[in-house]
Amino acid sequence: MKSYEMTIGLEIHVELNTKTKIFCSCENKFGGEANTRCCPICIGMPGTLPVLNKKVIEYGIMAGLVTNCTISKYINFDRKNYFYPDLPKSYQTSQLYLPICTNGYLDINLNENKKRIGICEIHMEEDAGKLIHDLDNNCTLIDYNRCGIPLLEIVTNPDMSSPDEVILFLEKLKSILQYAGISDCKMQEGSMRADINLSVRESNTSKLGTRTEMKNMSSFKAIYTAINQESKRQIQILESGKKVIQETRRWDELKNTSFSMRSKEDIQDYRYFPEPDLLPITIDDLWIDRIKTSLPEMPNEKRERYLNEYLLSEYETNIIVNSKYLANIFEQTTNICKNSKETANIIIGDVMRMLKETAKAPEEITFSSENLAKLIILIQNKTINRTIAKDIFDLIFLNNIDPELYVKQHNLEMLQDNELIKNIVCNVLNSNIQAIKDFRNGKTQVVKFLVGKTMKELKGRANPALVNDILKEQLDNFKI
Ligand code: ZN
Ligand code: MN
Repeated sequence: MKSYEMTIGLEIHVELNTKTKIFCSCENKFGGEANTRCCPICIGMPGTLPVLNKKVIEYGIMAGLVTNCTISKYINFDRKNYFYPDLPKSYQTSQLYLPICTNGYLDINLNENKKRIGICEIHMEEDAGKLIHDLDNNCTLIDYNRCGIPLLEIVTNPDMSSPDEVILFLEKLKSILQYAGISDCKMQEGSMRADINLSVRESNTSKLGTRTEMKNMSSFKAIYTAINQESKRQIQILESGKKVIQETRRWDELKNTSFSMRSKEDIQDYRYFPEPDLLPITIDDLWIDRIKTSLPEMPNEKRERYLNEYLLSEYETNIIVNSKYLANIFEQTTNICKNSKETANIIIGDVMRMLKETAKAPEEITFSSENLAKLIILIQNKTINRTIAKDIFDLIFLNNIDPELYVKQHNLEMLQDNELIKNIVCNVLNSNIQAIKDFRNGKTQVVKFLVGKTMKELKGRANPALVNDILKEQLDNFKI
């Protein structure tokens, strides 16, 4: 078989964090009872007129600033005409001719190398409603709550050539949009979703292959599998001497395969024209500067500060700063417990472990920094040992329990009574004579076994290092 290369470009839609929708005063919030957050404007009643939400422009400018784009000085909206039941106006108010941002980029770290992914433009538009296919009653229901929710569409150049690069790019984009406060980027709620344009071509040839588009992908896992599957499918077609058809394909997450949805429309099919109901907008340097100074601390500045102020290692800093939500927890917790090193350890070890086990993203964390800080203080003061601390952490992560209260209620304080520990050690030795003989014959690993036995008798509440010391002392003195 010949060798092939993939070419991938993305179109990413993110819902903005505004209080209200883009052209009306309906609340911008996820979910809600169907069709309760709508008005004549966002469901496109004849005779209504849109009024642009200023915050949408400001978020658009912000998005351009954090992705190294040129901010347009003069912008306008356009109508993208198409009929679909989730779009009651029969056109989407979007931007084609004069998008708000152009010509930016983000760098991703690929192993040791940096790769620059170009962003060709960012434009503003409105979201459509949601169709709910009710298979039991053989009908389709429509919820217009999402109509008119403001979106930014971020369009990249076809600069990516593997699923890993795509995920790295999306993670980086998600992180900086969250930091800037533009969007919560909750993929599970659809507030960040990606369309993937993918083509393959024989290695060492320059002409791009025919691309297909997979729409509205909303999890990294699905994106990763879909790219691998779709590139395989295209290669198989080419290997069998056929041609790839330009089309939109629907990815089925349950079946792990994609289906042809429709042959791809070209831009002229939408009959774009300038939106007559909205005036063009001029963006001056003063406005851009004002937004620039209002930007919160971004990952690069934060990284510097973590290295200098908290004295974390580069490795620790990178993991924590990667997510605004982890960084928030880190800073709040450290503020309370004044122990940045231990806080970093727990975030990198236990928090990351539980996120993986529960398949959650950092933004879905529900425990409070107060409870995490309390746990760290309990460890720091040697009130509890690390084994117990780990179990308690899991409960904090899952149920946000108060660790102080929990330790009291379950009698988990570390035993400080050396005499009691000595007694238990003696009991353990008395019932493990063979182990003592083994120890004296040079099998030092039995110490670990005996510490384990003793810890079990003490219900895990002792300091293992202390038990180890007492046990060694008693082992030497023990008379068989
Ligand atoms: Zn409305
Ligand atoms: Mn779009």
